[in-house]
Amino acid sequence: MNEDLLFRQLFVAIYIVFAGVRMRYRISSAKRELEQRHQAPGIAMILLTIAILGYFSSIFLDLFFPHWLSWSRIMIPSWLRWLGVIVALCSTLLVDWIHRELGRQYSAELAIQKEHSLVTTGPYARTRHPMYTALNMFSFSTALTTSNSLILLFAILVIIPFPWIARAEEEMLLETFGEEYREYMKRTGRFFPLIRSKSD
Ligand code: SAH
Repeated sequence: MNEDLLFRQLFVAIYIVFAGVRMRYRISSAKRELEQRHQAPGIAMILLTIAILGYFSSIFLDLFFPHWLSWSRIMIPSWLRWLGVIVALCSTLLVDWIHRELGRQYSAELAIQKEHSLVTTGPYARTRHPMYTALNMFSFSTALTTSNSLILLFAILVIIPFPWIARAEEEMLLETFGEEYREYMKRTGRFFPLIRSKSD
């Protein structure tokens, strides 16, 4: 089989599995009542919206009208595309684990819910924003499987606003949980696990 066609089929299959995992948790989160809503900085949300729209539009064009995007095709070695497939599958499993651990505290927007409790276990034991890391890992690795520079560019642009979003989320959680969250911040990394040095 033509290798490019194989990667396109894998891309679609991985996205279907990923969307299934996300939908399950998004649907149950939509039914919950939010107590306080917070906002990430406007500029970060504008950049994120543009990047996500660009990412999905270029994926749509690449899948259904590939000749329109022929100018943006690049040679990504086969092993790197396979690595993209493996990382995308691992990120999907990771997202499922993170959702299960965050449970009912999850919401699609920055919000505090009724009886919101602080999660500090599982993926949250050493990292404060494992879901943002796993979602960005997913979009970047799936972009690698496409061999398309435009999709890759938008996947990188999607990552840029997350430090601002995470900072706004941390301010909200600090307001809610005070000292408990401050202490939690000391023993965790923002996007990657904090590996304690021996002197700690
Ligand atoms: N930023 C986190 C969670 C994303 S879901 C991550 O990347 O894993 C967004 C919601 O999760 C926010 O509205 C916030 O209220 C909640 N949240 C984030 N960290 C939390 C924690 N450690 N415990 C409980 N809720 C948390």
